[in-house]
Amino acid sequence: MTGAMQADRRRVSIFGATGSIGQSTLDLIARAPSAYEVVALTGGANVDRLAADAIRLKAGIAVTAYPERLHDLRARLAGSGVEAAAGEAALLEAADRPADWIMSAIVGAAGLPPGLRALRHGTVLALANKESLVCAGPILMAEAARHGATILPVDSEHSAVFQALRGEDIATVEKVVITASGGGLRDWSLARLPHATPAEAGAHPNWDMGQRITIDSASMFNKAMELIETHEFFGLPPERIETIVHPQSLIHALVQFCDGAMMAHLGAPDMRHAIGHALHWPTRQDLPVARLDLAEIARLDFAAPDPARYPALALAERVMATGGLAGAAFNAAKEVALDLFIGGRLPFTEMAPLVERVLDRMAAEGCLEAQGPTLDMVLQADRLARDRAADLAGTYETPRRAGQMP
Ligand code: NAD
Ligand code: MG
Repeated sequence: MTGAMQADRRRVSIFGATGSIGQSTLDLIARAPSAYEVVALTGGANVDRLAADAIRLKAGIAVTAYPERLHDLRARLAGSGVEAAAGEAALLEAADRPADWIMSAIVGAAGLPPGLRALRHGTVLALANKESLVCAGPILMAEAARHGATILPVDSEHSAVFQALRGEDIATVEKVVITASGGGLRDWSLARLPHATPAEAGAHPNWDMGQRITIDSASMFNKAMELIETHEFFGLPPERIETIVHPQSLIHALVQFCDGAMMAHLGAPDMRHAIGHALHWPTRQDLPVARLDLAEIARLDFAAPDPARYPALALAERVMATGGLAGAAFNAAKEVALDLFIGGRLPFTEMAPLVERVLDRMAAEGCLEAQGPTLDMVLQADRLARDRAADLAGTYETPRRAGQMP
């Protein structure tokens, strides 16, 4: 390959390459291998997949988050010319490697430090990791502005809003409505919800996603995160952001303007839409996604979310009203509650009360207040919320176990 051809290739890195979003991103990139130079791929424990993809896409480096997996990763990459590395420092070092476009698709607060680091280099950051905005929205947005970096939303709802806002003045937006499928337990009676198992909550009617976000869809913690994400990314006040249950997941978001016009974004429930939009932005290019047949779809349904079924939504309102470190605490407590639910140690319906109690405790301790929090303060609030959640969760285990009636 000549130097000129090399220079034409876009340098891309994918953080969380082995996950659901990461694999969909690689699918798009692998369709046009001559267009991209893969700088870095990162993953977690699944080093088989990470190494296979790194070799297939001729990545410069493959990084596993877990140092104990480095030996296996090295063995799989032996003789391939792909470098191997492990651990948090290696993730940051990978984020320092020059790239034109970086996908942030690690799940959880662990995605924040590498994404933030990448922004320092003025890159385009395709942001699937919504936790970054929930925990540290103002820090992330300020860092992007400081270094002339661009953040593009990859969450389907936020990509939809972003597209509906193209060429519009944000000051003319009356409200943004993000849609919610209602999740896998949408039609269950309230009395049955405490008995939901991780497998039941982890089956989504429309989207094929990672396990954690799928369960978060059933509890609407995912939508709660997305309300906060909308607030942080678009700078809209909470009272101008709504969610509506739309079981078909074909409209991803709507923007209502001051003249009463509502722009809706429709598309098949396939994350390659939002990923591809961010990959090719500011242009549009063909994407291998299904086209909608409106006559066959025939109808689109909507319903207001029931606050008793989805208490996480009210917690999002509280987080937005509190600001400061509330987002970091909320996300961390939610991650612990989700771990406990997945481990069979907390009923589905106790996740939101646990998160609420963590917020209550930290508010009473004065630990949520902060003017212009720094990354260190965010990480400290994250650790404190995990400790508080673990403490408070213990009190649930005696009276109520997963599968028992409340
Ligand atoms: P996933 O669980 O399928 O994949 C997560 C990736 O992160 C994997 O590569 C895993 O190895 C890596 N990872 C996990 N823990 C890590 C850690 N501690 N340090 C470093 N890497 C770690 O998740 P996903 O469904 O692809 O979601 C990724 C992100 O995108 C999440 O923030 C999610 O909310 C968001 N998102 C996902 C979808 C979707 O359709 N899956 C849609 C919108 C937004
Ligand atoms: Mg979403």
